[in-house]
Amino acid sequence: MNKRDLAISIARVAGYHDDKARFTRLVVEARVARKHLDDAWRIGVQQKRNGMPCTCARCAA
Ligand SMILES: [Zn+2]
Repeated sequence: MNKRDLAISIARVAGYHDDKARFTRLVVEARVARKHLDDAWRIGVQQKRNGMPCTCARCAA
């Protein structure tokens, strides 16, 4: 997974967990267009809403 994909997956997980602090830090630190991070956040929110299990390390453990 390259850095861009990693940042996008982190943004998705942050959306899933409504973790705005993590998302904001990601926007600052990741060299990824804000639009892509916003899209990923929304996908995470949608996944939670649809009752999908989270795949992040914390939840999968
Ligand atoms: Zn999770």
